Amino acid sequence: MNNQEIPECKHCGVGMKKWQPPDDSTWDTPYIWVCFNDECPYFKRGWDHMMKTQEAKASYRHSLNPGTGATGPLPCWSYDALKDRVIEE
Ligand SMILES: [Zn+2]
Repeated sequence: MNNQEIPECKHCGVGMKKWQPPDDSTWDTPYIWVCFNDECPYFKRGWDHMMKTQEAKASYRHSLNPGTGATGPLPCWSYDALKDRVIEE
């Protein structure tokens, strides 16, 4: 059994999910924690922010690197993007 605690997103308080980065990514960890809550204020705010600053229809989700503890935005171009790489346990 895995009793590792699931971290909560600091923006919405929902438990984060393990997400497997693509093979060609620069992540040096087998997975990162990502908030996949579509109601997360960070994710919802991102759409407006990206449109204003980049004129891009995109947003980003809150992510946490379990190796370094670093948090940052994970770019996301639709509500369903990235979800195919979630590691369900
Ligand atoms: Zn969140």
